[in-house]
Amino acid sequence: MSNGQKKTDVILIGAGVMSATLGSLLKELAPEWKITVFEKLANEGEESSNEWNNAGTGHSALCELNYTSEKPDGSIDISKAIKINEQFQLSRQFWSYLVNSKLIHNPQDFIMPLPHMSLVQGEQNVSFLKKRFKALSNNPLFQGMEFSDNPEKLMEWIPLIMQDRTTNEPIAATKIDSGTDVNFGALTRMLFNHLKNKNVDVNYKHTVKDIKRTSDGSWKVKVHDIDSGKIEDHIAKFVFIGGGGGSLPLLQKTGIPESKRIGGFPVSGLFMVCNNPEVVAQHHAKVYGKAKVGAPPMSVPHLDTRFIDNKKSLLFGPFAGFSPKFLKTGSNFDLIGSVKPNNLLTMLAAGAKNMPLTKYLIQQVMLSKEKRMEELREFIPNAKGEDWDLVVAGQRVQVIKDTETGGKGTLQFGTEVVSAADGSIAALLGASPGASTAVHVMLEVITKCFPQNMKEWEPKIKEMIPSYGVSLMENPELLHEIHTSTAETLGLSDKNSKKKPEKELAFS
Ligand SMILES: Cc1cc2nc3c(=O)[nH]c(=O)nc-3n(C[C@H](O)[C@H](O)[C@H](O)COP(=O)(O)OP(=O)(O)OC[C@H]3O[C@@H](n4cnc5c(N)ncnc54)[C@H](O)[C@@H]3O)c2cc1C
Repeated sequence: MSNGQKKTDVILIGAGVMSATLGSLLKELAPEWKITVFEKLANEGEESSNEWNNAGTGHSALCELNYTSEKPDGSIDISKAIKINEQFQLSRQFWSYLVNSKLIHNPQDFIMPLPHMSLVQGEQNVSFLKKRFKALSNNPLFQGMEFSDNPEKLMEWIPLIMQDRTTNEPIAATKIDSGTDVNFGALTRMLFNHLKNKNVDVNYKHTVKDIKRTSDGSWKVKVHDIDSGKIEDHIAKFVFIGGGGGSLPLLQKTGIPESKRIGGFPVSGLFMVCNNPEVVAQHHAKVYGKAKVGAPPMSVPHLDTRFIDNKKSLLFGPFAGFSPKFLKTGSNFDLIGSVKPNNLLTMLAAGAKNMPLTKYLIQQVMLSKEKRMEELREFIPNAKGEDWDLVVAGQRVQVIKDTETGGKGTLQFGTEVVSAADGSIAALLGASPGASTAVHVMLEVITKCFPQNMKEWEPKIKEMIPSYGVSLMENPELLHEIHTSTAETLGLSDKNSKKKPEKELAFS
């Protein structure tokens, strides 16, 4: 039964960190616009953005080795690392603006200072890390990075990892204290509280079923109200599809030419969480290793201190795996249902190209707990099975598309904004670097979809994000100023980095 048609200016589909960020930006730029949100679950931030479903790394390329590749001549390409670091600075500035404007409060509930470290073993890897350190440490964005291959120094930095280590293989690490742990679930909830205070109409347990263009170029969004069973039609001039893994099927329903020949490759994730407070207390960093040969970049193993609900905990993983679901709460038919006549060849090509990866991911799903403990013991040599439990993380749907360099059916590991030529609808696909760069990605949505408003909006964007449109790497003074002021506002300055949370873990 259809229940009339309701009109609004903007519809945001999905209540994850991306819709939260876009809604918060738009509320500052065009406060008079009417925004309506539809979320199929009972609360915001319950899928990938939830604190237990992602790793909570404030990705700024301080420790992730896959953002710096070795070129054939042996030198290190740091261009991707610079890009991601600059993007994270935009997030820090927008979050600080929201705190300073008293639109959100208590930043320590969503962001904490935490050293970011890279750790490698073996001569070749140590030489790579040394070169990476040299390439990054002179860059103002990576100021303060230290390198050590001295086991005594490493024992000081990471006692839990170094104690009981018996191999004589060379080992080295870099450490930078300006890293962060971000609780994206808490951030999403804070942003939605703020949006509700600003009269944004947030509808939970409302599933978007269809999106069709109307004769005047607006969009009709068909929504199923789960509690009443009713189908409602909502009309908006602009729609953002922020459904996380659920975005691709919705984008396909729009029928826009930009939605054709795109597919999705779902990758599941598992973490191990430590339930022994004594072990948790011995570690204080995010320590990223190197991905195994054949493993996708999102399965780089890391041992992370996390701050969740004002408790300190310790997570290891993620173990990537294969699942045909596009959302953690999705269906086993998601993958097959996304194969359409227009993307069949792209999907078949991707299937053929990625057989080894699929095989790897299926093998990973089948790993026993003991096998996973063996991987953990590469980080903590004396890790005991009884101290660790498995938790299921979120789903990531990687984009598959035809590219000039990779050919038909190429798997992409980044995020992509897909928008209609007239800017009336946009979707976010992919999941990396993810939530950390939400502000950058949502500014991209705004630039693509509202070019006619940009001149009017630019001064406000610069007030919220002073480095907007400026390379911080090339403006070290501005970088210093922004870094200091955002650290102060978000509680990330040196004095705060020594601050301990109230309790040292205990998750069982
Ligand atoms: C294992 C793992 C580790 C990660 N680690 C990090 C990390 O360390 N740092 C980082 O920055 N990022 C990380 N990410 C990525 C990050 O979690 C995501 O990029 C981010 O949370 C995506 O936010 P979103 O709003 O797009 O999606 P989500 O948070 O998934 O939100 C989408 C919402 O849309 C809803 N929805 C879907 N379909 C419909 C529909 N038809 N109707 C109504 N509602 C719908 C869903 O229920 C959901 O609430 C990680 C992700 C995973 C899975």
